[in-house]
Formats: sequence, C-alpha cells, structure tokens
Amino acid sequence: MQDLIAALRRALGEDGVLSAGEARERLPEGSGAQVLLLPRSTEQVSQALALCQRAGCAVVPQGGLTGLVQGTATGPSEVALSLARLRQIEELDRLNRCMTVQAGVPLEAAQAAAEAEGLLLPVDLGARGSATIGGMISTNAGGNRVLRFGMMRDSVLGLEAVLADGTVIDSRSKLLKNNTGYDLKQLFVGTEGTLGVVTRAVLRLRQLPAFRGTALVALDSFAHVLQLLARMEARLFNTLSSFEVMWQPFYRLVTSAPARGRPILGTEHPYYVLLETLGMDAEKDQEALAAALAEAEGEGLISGAVLAQSGAQRRQMWALRDDVEQLHRYGPAFAYDVSLSLEAMEGYVSRVEQQLRERFTEHRLYVFGHLADGNLHVVVQVPELTAYDRVSEIVYSALASRNSSVSAEHGIGLLKKRELARSRSAPELELMRTLKRALDPANILNPGKIFEPAR
Ligand code: ZN
Repeated sequence: MQDLIAALRRALGEDGVLSAGEARERLPEGSGAQVLLLPRSTEQVSQALALCQRAGCAVVPQGGLTGLVQGTATGPSEVALSLARLRQIEELDRLNRCMTVQAGVPLEAAQAAAEAEGLLLPVDLGARGSATIGGMISTNAGGNRVLRFGMMRDSVLGLEAVLADGTVIDSRSKLLKNNTGYDLKQLFVGTEGTLGVVTRAVLRLRQLPAFRGTALVALDSFAHVLQLLARMEARLFNTLSSFEVMWQPFYRLVTSAPARGRPILGTEHPYYVLLETLGMDAEKDQEALAAALAEAEGEGLISGAVLAQSGAQRRQMWALRDDVEQLHRYGPAFAYDVSLSLEAMEGYVSRVEQQLRERFTEHRLYVFGHLADGNLHVVVQVPELTAYDRVSEIVYSALASRNSSVSAEHGIGLLKKRELARSRSAPELELMRTLKRALDPANILNPGKIFEPAR
C-alpha cells in the first residue's frame, strides 16, 4: 500500500492524495479508506486507476455522498476517489440545447448555469446542493420530474468515462440520435461506478419554463388518486411535471410540531397529492390548472385543493413533501424505495401495514413518493433497532410480483445487494457479471457493490 500511495502522490501531487485523517470530512461516515484521491483532470483519474489496477487495489468512486444505499462504503484495503475537483462547467451550447460539465459539478450549479441561458436542466431532487452530476449519472438518479422528463439517463446525451485500466472512453456526443452500434454511455449510467468512473457529461437541456403552477390536493380514496392522475395527464398534457403523493400519516407528521410545516389542507383526508405544471404562459397555465382542479372537484374526485398563489406558497407546499428529516422524529427508521404498478399500490401498502401490526407491538409506517412513476418511498419505524431484516422481509415480500422493483431510484450499493435477486432473474444477473468481468477483470472498481463478483 505504501508504494502505491507514493506512486499516486507522484501522479496527482501532494494535495491530490489525502490521508484518512485529512480527508475525514470528505469521506462517508464509517469509511475505512486509508487515502482519498482528489484528481484535477481526466488524465489524473486515468493515471490513478492504472496505478491502482497494477497494484490490485480497489477504488471506490464518490460524488456528493447523498446516496442512500452505501454505494460509497469503503474498506481499509480500498482507496476512495472523489471527483470534487472536477467541477467546471465547460460549455453551454444554446443552439443545440446541451451543456458539457465535469463530474464533480453539483446539480444546483449546473441548473443555475442552464437557467442563466434561459434553459432547464430538468432532473431535480431534494439533495440538489450536494449531489453531483457524476454521482447522479452513476446512480441514474430520479427525483420529482421523472413523469415528464425521465430519469438522469434521459438527460445524458454523451459522457466521458475512465475504465479500470485507465483507458479513457470519450463518448461526449451532443447528438440526440446516434445509432452507431452499442450505446456505450449506458454502461456507465446507473452502474454505480462498477464499470468505469464518469469524468464528464453532455447533458440535454430544455426550454426554461416561464411559469410553475403548484397545487396541493386532498383525496378520500386511492381510486380517486388514480383517477385524478389520469385526469391531470389528459387535461394538462405537456405541462404536468410532478404528481407526488403523501399518505395521511406522512402528511400529519410533516404538518405537526416540531416540524415547521403546518396543514395547508385539513389533516383528515387519507391521501394528499402535490402536483406541478411547468409551462410557458403564466395566465393560461394557471387557468388550465385551476379549471382542471375545479372540474375534478365538481365530480367529487377531490375533497379539497389549494393552488399556490406565490413562490412562497409553492415553496411551503414542497417543504412539506421534502421534510424527510421528520421521518426520524421517533427514532431511527428504515427507509425503502420500491416500484410497483399503480393498481397494486393500495393493496401493497395495506399488506405491509397489516404484517407490521401482526409482528410488532408498536410501529409507524410512512408512505409517500413519486406516484406517477410507480415509485413509493416506504419508511418504517419500530422500537427494535435490530429489526431491519424482519422489516425488510415484510416490505419486500409484499411486492411479490414480476412487475415490481426493490429499488426504484436509489440503486443497490451494499444495502440492497441481498434483495437484488427479487427483482432480477438469474440470466440477468449472470449477464451483469459477464459485463463486469469484461470491463473490470481485476475487480478493482467499487468491488462488492450491487452483486458479488463471479465465482
Ligand atoms: Zn424520491
């Protein structure tokens, strides 16, 4: 290890290799890494990986450390690799509506740069201040606007990545259409740094909306939630961009002290939906949203609605949905991120609720999430801190369908490795291992994440 560290210092410079002590604040909690690498360029990433592969030393790439599945956990014989110094916005191409950024650029900075040119980088999530573009590509991040703009994958036109042996793959195409053989960039999207390290990306931008319409709606049955979604998709075609649901216990949690939020609509309803439109005409769009809600109310689909009249009111509504800190109010809680088809959701949540009631003397269940994407966040709090496996079994076994996923947008990392086979078939897992062997034969890139290496 000491020879390798000396070689890395020669390649990256003294300040490009921090000891664990120097890097403590920059490493994930509980990290066992002896050093943190802070390369300044793609070339330095390439040199570092080549040196590590030759020494047989594992490398764990990290972005903004906002992941939730221990994707950057590092053992004592592993080296952590941060892309934090690769933080330049290299180009903003207004004509072709795209931007080229380095991997360490935080989402918020990329969004602001696009906005300054009248353009929108549509992917958005609560951790926008720290989450980096490279990390979001490696984990194929989702968030609040997937319904309209897709996941991170759908905003990546091209990228540059470094393979385990240091080879730089420059796939920085700006083209929307490019059917010239394998779409190699996809090897690095959502593969959690196990096949290569993303160093640059070309991101697709859209027209910056001139108007954001936001409404909070209360509903008295889940059937009405589904009908409302279909109705809003039809009435607000091309502008509907978020359709978030909160089950009553979550809504009550985030609207009661010590939470800062207060009920915008009474807390007696079983479901609340936060919906948002992004459009170009403030007057017409606000009218269309108001009309669609009035129509739904007239037909008894919804039991109450508040349309945000100002930016402050809009932020108040989103603050409720985003106040996930409250989930730990009564002690540590277990968080899950599942996908399932819309018609299965209501039954799924009641199955989980019933099993928790049967197996624990006390429990709290909070459900919320990106309903239109089929993605629910399920958070369970029980007094037994060691009950993670038992709670997980309840949450995952209730999925029990081919058309479901144990991880909608958070990835697998270490945390969900054991559950992967619930959502993927044996031939699928074997194909993943074949790809891993082909791209990283020495198994040095984020080893042991997602799945165990081939036997
Ligand atoms: Zn989410």
